[in-house]
Amino acid sequence: MRKVSILGATGSIGKSTLDLIERSSEEFEVVALTAAVNAEALADAARRTNAKLAVIADESRLYVLRDALKGTSCQAAAGVEALVDAATGDADLVMAAIVGCAGLAPTMAAVEAGKTVALANKEALVTAGDLMTEAAKASGSTLLPVDSEHNAIFQSLAGSRSEDVSRIILTASGGPFRTATSDAIDAATPAQAVAHPNWSMGAKISVDSATLMNKGLELIEAHYLFGLPSERIDILIHPQSVIHSLVEYIDGSVLAQLGSPDMRIPIAYALAYPARMPTPAQKLDLASIARLDFEEPDTTRFPALRLAREALEEGGSAPAVLNAANEVAVASFLGGEIAFPDISRLVETALEDNGRQAPQSIEDVYEIDREVRSGVMAMIKELCA
Ligand code: NAD
Ligand code: MG
Repeated sequence: MRKVSILGATGSIGKSTLDLIERSSEEFEVVALTAAVNAEALADAARRTNAKLAVIADESRLYVLRDALKGTSCQAAAGVEALVDAATGDADLVMAAIVGCAGLAPTMAAVEAGKTVALANKEALVTAGDLMTEAAKASGSTLLPVDSEHNAIFQSLAGSRSEDVSRIILTASGGPFRTATSDAIDAATPAQAVAHPNWSMGAKISVDSATLMNKGLELIEAHYLFGLPSERIDILIHPQSVIHSLVEYIDGSVLAQLGSPDMRIPIAYALAYPARMPTPAQKLDLASIARLDFEEPDTTRFPALRLAREALEEGGSAPAVLNAANEVAVASFLGGEIAFPDISRLVETALEDNGRQAPQSIEDVYEIDREVRSGVMAMIKELCA
């Protein structure tokens, strides 16, 4: 029995994780589940899995959660400190699947507590990469990448020596605007941006996939997970999302992981690691797919990719600034306040205005996050005026 807690249990990754656990219920015991505001969905998941603790981030929803859990032995709690309790409790494995920098504190707490952390919450690693990898080293925590590309690289690296790796190649579907003209991209609506061709995901990561900021965040994520510099991490557009990423070795061998685009495959790898477990994901039928295509990414139509690489190369506070500006801009785009290309423009301005020191603690990261958010919100107000 593996004891598992899920941070962000009501989201896209959280629900896929629950689906796998419920299909192999004899293998897993659910300790804690968390959500932002949806107390009903959280209580429902806690009932189905016999969870011991359910935490709602929004304290004003605690009474709804308590009510919905009546008659069960599941404890209800609320607030940021309770999220940390959920991350550090009795579990062996913590699925970190909160979206955005909001997941940093509980994810970091799980790392510091020496848990095995299945990491979906890429923003946590992007904003606090050095702090989190150092904390993992100190506590003995293992980070298992859930992001499909990083999971593919992790699988393709198995058993190899780091000095034998020449580069890693992150694949990208190209998103919904891969073949769109600059004019069409300028006029993109939220509904068009969240309509991803291959993957079904939360709204924020779907917009990131449309700007290619998702691939930019993944570039930074790969740097911290695998310890390679920017110039040894390449990005390749591969519209079918069948090859999830590749590792090139010094002898010219290239290893890759393939599969149908279903997040339950990388999630299952993390849940069962180092073993494997069955999933209901469609098996790959290469004969019916028949062809795989590849192209270079276009940083003119998709400037977010260039901005993320610049932030990685600059280091220090730049990745946290990039992430905070992007989170605010994406929320504002989804709210209908700004245009699609404004997202990258706002991120670029936030990076240009940045003179902040590298964060030395999680508190520093949150301070940078707060400052950049309020700065970008002020810029949005001006844009809208
Ligand atoms: P989602 O929006 O569907 O779910 C987010 C979860 O986080 C929900 O359970 C929500 O209640 C919780 N949450 C949101 N804000 C919170 C807050 N302030 N405090 C506490 N909890 C909060 O997102 P998702 O698509 O499941 O993505 C989750 C993470 O996984 C993201 O970092 C994303 O980049 C990453 N990821 C997702 C996919 C995917 O296929 N969905 C793939 C790769 C990586
Ligand atoms: Mg990914």
